Amino acid sequence: MSYQHIKLPENGEKITVKNNKLTIPDQPVIGFVEGDGIGPDITKASLRVLDAAVEHAYQGKRKIAWCELYLGEKAAGIYGGDYFPAETLDAVKELYVALKGPLTTPVGGGFRSLNVSLRQDLDLYACVRPVRYYQGVPSQQKNADQVDVVIFRENTEDVYAGIEYESGSEENKKLAKFLREEMGADFFEDAGLGVKPISPKGTKRLVRSAINYAIDNGRRNVTLMHKGNIMKFTEGAFRNWGYELAKEEFADVLITEDELWDNHDGQQPEGKIVIKDRIADIMFQLMQLRPEEFDVVATMNLNGDYLSDALAAEVGGVGIAPGANLADHIGVFEATHGTAPKYANQNKVNPSSLLLSGVMMLEYMGWKEAAKLINDAYPKVIADKTVTYDFARQMQGATTVSTSEFADKIISKLTR
Ligand code: NAP
Repeated sequence: MSYQHIKLPENGEKITVKNNKLTIPDQPVIGFVEGDGIGPDITKASLRVLDAAVEHAYQGKRKIAWCELYLGEKAAGIYGGDYFPAETLDAVKELYVALKGPLTTPVGGGFRSLNVSLRQDLDLYACVRPVRYYQGVPSQQKNADQVDVVIFRENTEDVYAGIEYESGSEENKKLAKFLREEMGADFFEDAGLGVKPISPKGTKRLVRSAINYAIDNGRRNVTLMHKGNIMKFTEGAFRNWGYELAKEEFADVLITEDELWDNHDGQQPEGKIVIKDRIADIMFQLMQLRPEEFDVVATMNLNGDYLSDALAAEVGGVGIAPGANLADHIGVFEATHGTAPKYANQNKVNPSSLLLSGVMMLEYMGWKEAAKLINDAYPKVIADKTVTYDFARQMQGATTVSTSEFADKIISKLTR
């Protein structure tokens, strides 16, 4: 495919899909979007660390060929005011894997969120947020070191689908009349109305990717989180379809919690993954009291939104939380915080969220050795207390370093 402004690097080779699996060449072309605000600072720092880790791990045999793609303010400058150029979408589809900085979204007007547009246009149906504790990161949670969970949040359905009817509008009156007169529903006059679609298709593809992740990464359990005791035909159905999918497609590797107790006296057999479910409210409590009981959590959009930020707080906050939005093959890895515009171009903020999203990206590509080098180096830098301002203000005796210096520190600790 030819592009107007995007230049595919000549020294790289494109990722392909064969037999439904990604094939990663040794010099893969990977897209990156700098993003707005602090995006350029954290992107520069993260790419340097990722390149250094790949170099250390594979001694030149492997190397990422980065390809810059444009979204947000930088895109508007290049494409004559277009914040969301169609060729960027085409390039992500062609390259399959991209790392993305944060993008500005105007509040209460202006253009549609670029992040939401990207997820919808590429049908990135799973938002994946690993939440784990790195030794030394400031946290208020006593048992933070027990947290090591990966949340799969459904990205396309639920109350987020945008099917809402404003109080007083003609559509609202029409729907209210139908609900009252045809369906026997009872609710207060002039209530705003929203629809919460949860489908077998949306549920099953999400739960399938969560289970596949658990299998590929040696995880011991998958939990379906829902509020199905109250919302029986949406959240309850999510739970039922999740179990149905597990039985249909993964019967050889999964056992239910009932089977674990009935047939194995609570002792998890080697090579088996337990699938269980928990109601959303107790899940929040359990995640604080006994986080070690949870490995992978699959849940709907709104539950997943709340749970991922609450859990991130246990291990140091969203400032270091990585994330990815995945379709069947496409992966867009992104910082979970925003553009923090007041710190733009000051080389000041913490690059960890984007950097650790890059670590997820390496794992997704199967370059686990390089990912491990960063995961091992990271706590050493924190232990030295050479950290960016946000961590420094929560630590006794820390030395505050800039974004680029923090990246240098990590690179200096990469050892095989
Ligand atoms: P924000 O950009 O996440 O910033 C809020 C605060 O979080 C900052 O003022 C800073 O706290 C802290 N922070 C964020 N990133 C940090 C980092 N890398 N290192 C250290 N501290 C960091 O949230 P916002 O101000 O609500 O949103 C700004 C813009 O970003 C909006 O346009 C919003 O729509 C957009 N946004 C984009 C994404 C995305 O692209 N995925 C996500 C969320 C928001 P202190 O002031 O305490 O230092």
